[in-house]
Amino acid sequence: MQYPFTEEQLALAELTRDFMEREVAPVAAELDAKTNQGDCYPKEQINKASHLGLRTLAVPKEYGGAGTDELTRALVLWTGAQTELGVIKCLSQCWKVTNAIARLGTDDQKDRWLKMFVEDHDCVVSILSTEPETGSDNIYRQPDPNLGLKTTAVKDGDWYVINGAKRFNSLVSYSKIMLMYARTDPNAPLSEGATCFILRGDQEGIRYGRIEDKMGWRLYPNGDSFYENVRVHKDDILGEVNGAYASIEGIINRGNAELIACSTGLCRALFNVCHQHAKERIQGGKPIIEHPTVASLLADMLTSIEVAEQFMWRVAWGIDNDPTYNSRFTVSSKLISDRLGMHIVPIALDILGGVGIMKDFPSEKLVRDIITPWHGAGTDSLALLRIAQTLDLPA
Ligand SMILES: Cc1cc2nc3c(=O)[nH]c(=O)nc-3n(C[C@H](O)[C@H](O)[C@H](O)COP(=O)(O)OP(=O)(O)OC[C@H]3O[C@@H](n4cnc5c(N)ncnc54)[C@H](O)[C@@H]3O)c2cc1C
Repeated sequence: MQYPFTEEQLALAELTRDFMEREVAPVAAELDAKTNQGDCYPKEQINKASHLGLRTLAVPKEYGGAGTDELTRALVLWTGAQTELGVIKCLSQCWKVTNAIARLGTDDQKDRWLKMFVEDHDCVVSILSTEPETGSDNIYRQPDPNLGLKTTAVKDGDWYVINGAKRFNSLVSYSKIMLMYARTDPNAPLSEGATCFILRGDQEGIRYGRIEDKMGWRLYPNGDSFYENVRVHKDDILGEVNGAYASIEGIINRGNAELIACSTGLCRALFNVCHQHAKERIQGGKPIIEHPTVASLLADMLTSIEVAEQFMWRVAWGIDNDPTYNSRFTVSSKLISDRLGMHIVPIALDILGGVGIMKDFPSEKLVRDIITPWHGAGTDSLALLRIAQTLDLPA
């Protein structure tokens, strides 16, 4: 790992690795192979992880969690992703949402929602932004008020009434706590006209639709949900009215190395599979790692992975500790971690030869998992647009 991690961080990573190998690895392939995507959800494993404290890593200590920082969580996620992505991603979704409640919530919200979350070992959470007609428009926000979120929240005294539909949201229908992004000012651009509400998953007026049948991350389900006159009290607004995306920018995007850790962890796992195979596979009278071609391909993979990892640790550390941190690094590190996958998958398939395409060889699931988050937090083309927006232009 080569980053100056503390003894405590390394111990937590070791606990995670041990848990993932003991409790998840033996059942991962069986869960991944279920025909009905809804049956892939790792309920038992989430519950066991919770008893080890892994679900509540982002909850502050005074509310019963571990109060870890972004770097620690990135290390745990990167470690867990090397065994099975879906389980550790269910946990990191919990970190992301509870971190937002801890940092943006009122004392009353923290007392109610974090307490409920900590006490229930089966509690997982969702973020409801993407809709059937609005995906990238919620991420690459533009001044036109007609672009972005269609779901509305209309004020009715002390309450807001929510109507609309959401698509592709992670863990929806399994979640007990959900952060809902809805439009509260239809005449303002999305960045000034949307509000974040905290909902219970079993609230009246919510209906769940199909769970998507995905190629990768199958233990981490995504689904449709529909909202008909769902009433939320104003006390359950997270952050400012009309300030939902400013909050995400401030708390979730700046402070999130999540998808970066998923991708680099998966790429590291693919490297390990290739390295092991190259030591065991004999061709030309010797292990293929002794052929300079194969050794240099492994070196190529390793170099790219190590550079992406070191940038990720810097990003994760900077998010919490560096007042001069430039949030553009979060976007570029995500882009680099996606491109890492694009770079190493063809190399891996070269090293593995024919076995790399066999469904019962571990690289098959890793390749499916590696391509899954490329659109996440915005596609790479939008990441480039967002980075381009920060360039100095001629005066
Ligand atoms: C595994 C998984 C987990 C997810 N989890 C969640 C979740 O928890 N919560 C949630 O809310 N959503 C979630 N999503 C949805 C995800 O955030 C969206 O899929 C993503 O934002 C892209 O939106 P889209 O699919 O609608 O693509 P589209 O918006 O249809 O984009 C398609 C293409 O058009 C391009 N494009 C779009 N707009 C522009 C523009 N203005 N300028 C230039 N190019 C543009 C894009 O770059 C892309 O190339 C998840 C999806 C998956 C598959």
